[in-house]
Amino acid sequence: MGLLDALIEDLATSPPGSPLVFVSDERVGPLHAEPLVARARKRGLAAELLVFAEGEASKTRETKAALEDRLLELGVGRDAAIVAVGGGVTCDLAGFVAATWHRGIPVVQVPTSLLAMADAALGGKTAVNLGPAKNIVGAFHQPLAVWADVALLATLDEERFREGFAEVVKLGVVAQAGLFRRVERERARLASRDPEPLVDAVSACTRIKGRIVRRDERELGRRAVLNFGHTIGHALEAASTLHMHHGHAVSVGMCVEARIAVEQTGFPGRQLERLTRLLADLGLPTRPPPAVDPAAVLDFTRHDKKVRAGRVRYALPLEIGRMPRGSSVTSIVEDEAVLRALAGSIDEARSAG
Ligand code: NAD
Repeated sequence: MGLLDALIEDLATSPPGSPLVFVSDERVGPLHAEPLVARARKRGLAAELLVFAEGEASKTRETKAALEDRLLELGVGRDAAIVAVGGGVTCDLAGFVAATWHRGIPVVQVPTSLLAMADAALGGKTAVNLGPAKNIVGAFHQPLAVWADVALLATLDEERFREGFAEVVKLGVVAQAGLFRRVERERARLASRDPEPLVDAVSACTRIKGRIVRRDERELGRRAVLNFGHTIGHALEAASTLHMHHGHAVSVGMCVEARIAVEQTGFPGRQLERLTRLLADLGLPTRPPPAVDPAAVLDFTRHDKKVRAGRVRYALPLEIGRMPRGSSVTSIVEDEAVLRALAGSIDEARSAG
């Protein structure tokens, strides 16, 4: 039995709600959600499908409201459940709809991008963006279950597929040097979508993120390690008015933040080189676009959710696989240090042509 047959069987034997409202974007809907809806109906389940336009530009209050209007038209009550089928945008958006519909109904996540399997579908953070302010309105709403089948990655285009490695590498840096080393060793097989190392990587990410989130669901402490690369990453996304894809922004963000860490925490320079080489070998960018203005990026970091009392906090590694503990899990970084790291990285990008 395939994993998705098992999902339908699970939905049929212990339904999380009725109807099951599948939510997907216009690209993934026909590829993966429609077949699931057809199988669910064949199995006798009441199932609806709602789709929205693909891409980060849809992660808005407006799309959420449009989905809610459809739920109302369909008469979907508090006994329903949402099944999110898609990439990180679908996980975040459909998860947030589930978090607030009738004050919260169950959501089952079926991630279809590597980025969503390794990160976005896990841990219960749901949100929409307000313009350049990423994930600024949202809720914690844990999924009832996450069904990740790497077979679904077959239809993902090459660039989007490779973006997912940014979050896999991040989890290696912040929590498990062994995962980082396995990705280094298996980089060629991973890049060619060999299912065996992919299943290993996704399972490792699930375990690592699960462990961190179980201890600190609401990010009052340790969970903040997961933000490594994301303070600069989100600012780069904002500075490019979201034209820079999330995985690319996180990849560059990790390289810039690791540069900051070399100064601030003593992160070894040779590990910065290893990190940069691994990301580049996986087909990810490692420097900001040369046209980026460091001052503008710095400015956008102030929109970040990690700002406390007006100061931006960074999750900086001590070394690959080791983050600071206790109250120093995140630290304040002076503007000059951020600008130096950004400018150094941009200079390298310019001289690389
Ligand atoms: P996405 O959902 O936009 O997917 C990227 C593109 O791939 C889309 O065009 C989508 O239609 C397409 N796609 C997805 N799966 C496919 C498949 N199997 N076949 C063909 N096409 C497919 O975005 P993403 O890159 O998956 O995720 C990025 C989002 O995830 C960002 O909004 C980010 O903020 C969020 N995120 C959230 C968390 C969290 O903890 N909640 C963590 C990391 C990232």
